[in-house]
Amino acid sequence: MSGHDDVMDSLRYAAHRRWRTGDRLRSYARYLWYVLRHKYFVFLACCKYGVPLAGITHDLSKFLPGEFFPYARYFYGPNSQTRTQTPLEKVQFDRAWIAHQHRNWHHPQSWVLRHDDGGEVVLDMPDRYRREMLADWEGAGRAKGRTDLAAWYAKKGPGLPMTPLTRIWVERQLGIAAMPASPVWRAPEP
Ligand SMILES: [Zn+2]
Repeated sequence: MSGHDDVMDSLRYAAHRRWRTGDRLRSYARYLWYVLRHKYFVFLACCKYGVPLAGITHDLSKFLPGEFFPYARYFYGPNSQTRTQTPLEKVQFDRAWIAHQHRNWHHPQSWVLRHDDGGEVVLDMPDRYRREMLADWEGAGRAKGRTDLAAWYAKKGPGLPMTPLTRIWVERQLGIAAMPASPVWRAPEP
């Protein structure tokens, strides 16, 4: 996605009539507060996992207009409470999310290599990024008042694209390596 698209998206949001200026600014402020809290908790966790620098650069792209406005609107906008986001809101959010994944290597989805013939390979995550990923999960949990990371992982982990090596490392860090192995995510056959 080009910078031009990002700017056009932002303008389209600004031009949206049903969302009054006061409400819009409140949503932006609430989302900004959320991101700052998230970054603070991720920074603490990054220090714990030995990658403090990653804690500083973590999710900085969330301040770019192409990510900030669609996220703010999706999570705090007029349709967020009822989860009735419009098709446009959903499309914009999906674009922001894929842009985020391509800019930030701490997401396991960033390590899915897509070949031209449609095949997919999941790559091992470098140590620095898997540490930041753990810190991300932990920080996101704390920002939302959720502290049991192992329980969260038991629910969400199996759906994430990770190689067995990355998965075993993660589960060791979480102290759940002795649990029955989670199903290994496999890319669809080409
Ligand atoms: Zn991120």
